[in-house]
Parts: sequence; structure tokens; C-alpha cells
Amino acid sequence: MRTRVAIIGAGVSGLASIRCCLEEGLEPTCFERGSDVGGLWKFSDHAEEGRASIYQSVVTNSSKEMMCFPDFPYPDDYPNYMHHSQLQEYIRTFAQKKDLLRYIKFETVVTSIKKCPSFLVTGQWDIVVEKDGNQESIIFDAVMICSGHHVYPNLPTNSFPGLEKFQGSYLHSRDYKGPEVFRGKRVLVIGLGNSGSDIAVELSRLAAQVMISTRSGSWVMSRVWDDGYPWDMVYVTRFASFLRNILPPFVSDWLYVKKMNTWFKHENYGLVPLNGPLRKEPVFNDELPSRILCGAVSIKPNVKQFTETSAVFEDGTVFEAIDSIIFATGYDYAYPFLDDSVIKSRNNEVTLFKGVFPPQLGTPTLAVIGLVQSLGAAIPTADLQARWAAKVMRGIKETPPRSALSSWVNTSKQNRPKVWGLCFCQTLQTDYITYMDELGSFIGTKPNIPWLFLTDPQLALEVYFGPCSPYQFRLMGPGKWDGARNAILTQWDRTVKPTRTRAIREAQRPRHFFNLLKMISFPVLLLAILLIFYS
Ligand code: FAD
Ligand code: NAP
Repeated sequence: MRTRVAIIGAGVSGLASIRCCLEEGLEPTCFERGSDVGGLWKFSDHAEEGRASIYQSVVTNSSKEMMCFPDFPYPDDYPNYMHHSQLQEYIRTFAQKKDLLRYIKFETVVTSIKKCPSFLVTGQWDIVVEKDGNQESIIFDAVMICSGHHVYPNLPTNSFPGLEKFQGSYLHSRDYKGPEVFRGKRVLVIGLGNSGSDIAVELSRLAAQVMISTRSGSWVMSRVWDDGYPWDMVYVTRFASFLRNILPPFVSDWLYVKKMNTWFKHENYGLVPLNGPLRKEPVFNDELPSRILCGAVSIKPNVKQFTETSAVFEDGTVFEAIDSIIFATGYDYAYPFLDDSVIKSRNNEVTLFKGVFPPQLGTPTLAVIGLVQSLGAAIPTADLQARWAAKVMRGIKETPPRSALSSWVNTSKQNRPKVWGLCFCQTLQTDYITYMDELGSFIGTKPNIPWLFLTDPQLALEVYFGPCSPYQFRLMGPGKWDGARNAILTQWDRTVKPTRTRAIREAQRPRHFFNLLKMISFPVLLLAILLIFYS
């Protein structure tokens, strides 16, 4: 009998999981509480219980070539950064074209996931689902949790003395849908993440006054990077990652802070992070500096206390006559259908082997997909996690459950020491390329760069110096996509296609030859300096 896998949620992580289970010959059943695929990208004009909720104006902050399913590029004419409705259209098309919809049970909520009494022998799970008020218990061989992590708001009301006296209204960014209700109002936004800055900028066109309070500041980046290319196509490259990894930390920190300050000096805008070199997620907002420069948004430190009508900040300044406060203070992780001892989520601390398998289970029949956060996009990360998890789960039927993970790990000997190092994911931040390569090496899909340079130098140059786009992880090995080579070589064409709506000369694209020169000249230069110094 085939391994039956329950998948919780039909967002991008759930869809990737269904597809990867099918690739491995497993039998997936996906339960989705909503009526459509897409997860948080399925917009609703009100926040729905148990589902992520976004505002009407959300545009992606990853570019289309970097956030696709690795064998499913976006249409050429899609903009590089997409409105949520376009991304949702793409996700729906993916689910249809890959024939995934028939594995999804919509409007069905998973209310409980418990180990079967025979768990130690079988590794099986008892899953209770609810549809139209009727509950049903079903036994599965394995579970993939894809329920998202932007659902449960972090509303730190207890951190703000006096808030209980405040007479205006307050809400979490999860409940913010658009600016109209704030027309002419004085609004305080707490939190300088992507939500806080998007919302403040949008409000600044209608509201009477907008302030952002930030306790630790953030780097604010443009989506448009060097030579006008999308930021992630320039920053997320193997070459840049190599440089970042070989430089001494103080040099790499200095370069990072310098790069972050090239667009504008954050200190002068009140935005500068308290811990500058800390690689916390930057804010991508092209308008925030300009709105600050025009006086439409002001930045303030943390709130010390609230009164009936105002906020007193830690520097003693006051924002008077506030009508509304928006807490753009992020989210907590929660798995209400699961006993806390399976995935500890107290204080946002989650212990997961490579961000996927709870190690204390012993048997790898439960995987969490889509929780790891990095500077890379969510879709390719979820795809690779799901491919690895599905392969491990396939092993459950081939080997006794308790030893399945170890037997799997033993097959990839070169990674063994690293594999056994547990990933205690406290902040859930990880380096994208390192993480993807590590997962890729478990399943034999990590691109072999030296081999590529020998056999296909044109492709190798693009893979190494160009963007580390998702196609790279379906270029070789199991699950290889025959279109990957072409997708990589044409990624810049799809990038400039939607902006070159008035084509006069030939399109420009980055010249990797100069990067190659830089790479060769770097050690030569270093050697020369050392020789001069010591002679
Ligand atoms: P979700 O999309 O949240 O899907 C989870 C699904 O599980 C939902 O459909 C939900 O209904 C279902 N579900 C939950 N509980 C149950 C249950 N008990 N029973 C049944 N079904 C259940 N990432 C990027 O890479 N690039 C971006 O530009 C980007 N922009 C973002 C913008 C915003 C405003 C936010 C909040 C996040 C953004 N992200 C972005 C991160 C985002 O989390 C991922 O892009 C991705 O959509 C997460 O997908 P997911 O499938 O893991 O979770
Ligand atoms: P977030 O990134 O977690 O940011 C939360 C902010 O709230 C941080 O600035 C944090 O400050 C602050 N905060 C938290 N607790 C606080 C407290 N007790 N007191 C004061 N400040 C507090 O949340 P988010 O902005 O909602 O973003 C969630 C995810 O969605 C991110 O991955 C983001 O990229 C994504 N997103 C993307 C887009 C887009 O693509 N356009 C838009 C919105 C969101 P500290 O930094 O000091 O902790």
C-alpha cells in the first residue's frame, strides 16, 4: 500500500507538498479550510479565522524570477513585483496545470493531529477533520504541516502602559485592508517591518498625520537595485554569497552597512537599526524615504506610555490627539491542532531538524513546510523542503519508521556531519543559498558548479554569477526539469520584457565576464598587496 500523507493547507507550501508527494509515488490528501488555493495570497476583504490576511495594496517584495515554482516560470509579461491578485492567478494556474486540485478537500478544517497508539511501531497519525459541522477521524502514515505562519497576530498590548486608557481605536495590521477609513485621521503605526512601512506610506496620502514608532529601526531598501534590476536578482547570487562567506566578519559587516546606506543615510531619517550589521529582514519600500522627506511620515522611537489621547515616546516627545493606532507588530507561530510537545512554539521557539522535522519524534513522519525564513523567496524554499520531506517519507514504507531518517541520512555520506547537527531555529532566519544547497545535497539536486564549468560554461557563468533562481534546483538530479537550462539562460529576457514597453535599442543584461575578471583579479590583487607589504 502507498504511503498516505495528510497535507494541512493549500497555500504555496501545501501545493508544493502535494506535487512532491505525487513525484515520489505517495498518496497525498490536502485539507484546506478556505474555498480556494493560494493561502495568504487569496485576498479577502475581512480577516478570516485561522487564515492569513493581507491588505488590498500588497505587492510582492521578491521578484518573479526568484519566487516561482522551479519548473513553472511566470508569464513573460508579468511585472517583476506582482500585485497579490496576479500572484494568486499564477498559483491557481500552477495548481490546475499540475492537476493538483483533485487532491484537495476544500472548506475542511483540521482540528486535531495526534499520534496513533501504535505510533512507536507505525509512525502513524490520527487526524480529525471538520466539514459542515461534521467531524471525521482519519489515519495517515505521515503529515506535512503547511498551515502558514502569518496567521496569529502578535498584539503586544501588555508592553504598552496606559493603552487601556487610550480612547481612540486600535487594531493589528492583519485587520487593515485599506486607507479609506483613516481619511483625515491622526494615525500611529507601531512596528517598522514591511507591513508597518507599507501601511504608513499608503495612509500618508489620506490621513492628517502619520507617525511610525520603531523600537529598533530597520534598513529600508529599494526594490530597484544596481542598474535598475530587481534587488534579489542582484543580491541573491552564488558569487555574492561566496564573497560574503570568505570575508572576515568585520569586513563583511562594514560592507553590508555601507551598501544599506548607499541609497540614503538611514541615520538622517531616524531609521537606522540599533544593531546595524545584524542581518534582520530589511524593509522593501521605495516610497518611505520620500514620504519622510516630504514630511508626510515621521519616525519615532518606542512608545513609553499611552494616555487617553496621546503617545509619549522614549525620547520624551509626544504625538497628541491620536485617532487610531495600528500594531504592525508581526505574527506568532501557532499550531492549535497539534500538541505543543511535537513542535515547541513557546516564545516563538521552534526546534526543527533543518527547519522541517521535529527531532524529538524519532521517526520522520511529520514535516513542517514553509516555516524557515531567509532572504530568499518562500515558494522555492517550500518546494525543496517538500521534495526532501517526501523522499524521507517514501523511505518510511521502505524501511521501519524509527530508522527511516537515519537510513536516509546515511545515504548522503558527504553531508553526514552537517546533517546530524540539529538546527535549533530560534529566529528562523537562515542564509538562503547555503540552506537551499544543503537541502539540495540531501536529495542530489544541488547544482554541480565545477562540472557545469567543464561541460556548459555559458550556463555555469549564469548559474554562478547570475541570480540563484529556483530553476537551479531542478537543473540536475532527481526531479530534473528539462526546461531549467533554457529558463536560466532566458531569465533576464523575462525580467526586462514587462518594462521595455518602448524598445529603442537592444536590451541590456548584466555582464558576467566582468564578475569573472573580478573574481580572478581579487586573489591576485590580495597576493600582490601581501607581497609588497612583506618585501
Ligand atoms: P499560507 O499562504 O498562509 O497558507 C496556509 C494555508 O493553510 C491557508 O490556505 C489556510 O487556510 C490553511 N490552513 C491553516 N490552518 C488550517 C487548518 N487547521 N485546516 C485546514 N487548512 C488550514 N514571501 C515571498 O517569498 N515573497 C513575498 O513577496 C512575500 N510577501 C509577503 C507579503 C505579506 C503581506 C505576507 C504576510 C507574507 C509575504 N511573504 C512573501 C511570505 C509568505 O508567507 C509566503 O509567500 C507564502 O505565501 C506562505 O505560504 P504557505 O503556504 O506556507 O502559508
Ligand atoms: P515583522 O516583519 O515581524 O515586523 C514586525 C515589527 O513590529 C518589527 O519592526 C518589530 O520590531 C515590531 N515589534 C514587534 N513587537 C513589538 C513590540 N512589542 N513593541 C514594539 N515593536 C514591536 O511583521 P510584518 O511587517 O507584518 O511582516 C511579516 C512578514 O510578511 C515578513 O516576512 C514580511 O516580509 C512579509 N510582508 C511582505 C510584504 C510585501 O511583500 N510587500 C508586506 C508586508 C509583510 P523589532 O524589529 O524591534 O523586533
